[in-house]
Amino acid sequence: MERLVLEGKRCVVTGGSRGIGLAIVKAFLAEGASVEYYARSRADEHDELAAAAAAAGRELLWTACDVSDAVALEAAIEATVGRAAPDVVVNNAGVTRDGLVFRMSLDDWHAVLDTNLTSAFVVARTAARAMIKRRAGSIINVSSVVGITGNGGQTNYSSSKAGLIGFTKSLAREVASRGVRVNAVAPGFVDTAMTEAISDEARVKLLAQIPLGRTGTADEIASVVVFLASSMSSYITGEVIKIDGGMAM
Ligand code: NAP
Repeated sequence: MERLVLEGKRCVVTGGSRGIGLAIVKAFLAEGASVEYYARSRADEHDELAAAAAAAGRELLWTACDVSDAVALEAAIEATVGRAAPDVVVNNAGVTRDGLVFRMSLDDWHAVLDTNLTSAFVVARTAARAMIKRRAGSIINVSSVVGITGNGGQTNYSSSKAGLIGFTKSLAREVASRGVRVNAVAPGFVDTAMTEAISDEARVKLLAQIPLGRTGTADEIASVVVFLASSMSSYITGEVIKIDGGMAM
């Protein structure tokens, strides 16, 4: 029988209730992992996925957690690590609160930075400690191409995503000698709830900037995350992989 690339691994995914995070949860389960996801809501398909996972001898857990609440998040990740050290952690939870900088409130700034960047620090700090002890682990941060290119109207969001890239590279340097890898993915324009509100006019303009001529799917992000989670990428750390149809090449 073909060996699954994440057979027996324990994976944690923040923001796994829908969109890209849910696609990552499903891809991890399909590759033989047990998965715990953190989100404020449960995935609509949770019961079916959990039953299928249990039938295959795996586990799917939902932990109700607002990742922008650092105290609650710290307690959640401590509890997760206390049950068993994770092999893989994906910091995927993210929000936008767009607006031109002159009109952006401090609340809009903090909400995005807390959810997208500080949460990754809180999760990775505890998870990396447990991974170092076992001399193994893969941490993957979901950044964005706008963390590389910038985007008008998204100073808060692009700062959080650029911050994730700096965090990825710095942490990768800190933990590499102990067998832990840290990488990031930078998706371009992916059809999820997050991009639903984009007007038809803006969508046409965005599509014109994508050499492959279409938006990406959540599954296309998840497959790269599986690669980074698995031993297929064992010599890759501190890397940022753009998954954007060529948009930011
Ligand atoms: P989405 O469909 O809106 O999903 C966002 C996920 O994050 C949900 O599971 C949501 O769960 C969770 N989340 C948000 N705030 C949270 C909080 N305070 N506490 C816990 N969980 C929270 O968005 P998506 O497009 O899949 O985005 C996933 C990641 O990809 C984000 O980091 C986003 O920045 C990044 N990304 C997306 C695109 C794109 O084009 N879609 C492009 C580049 C990067 P609950 O609401 O249940 O809490």
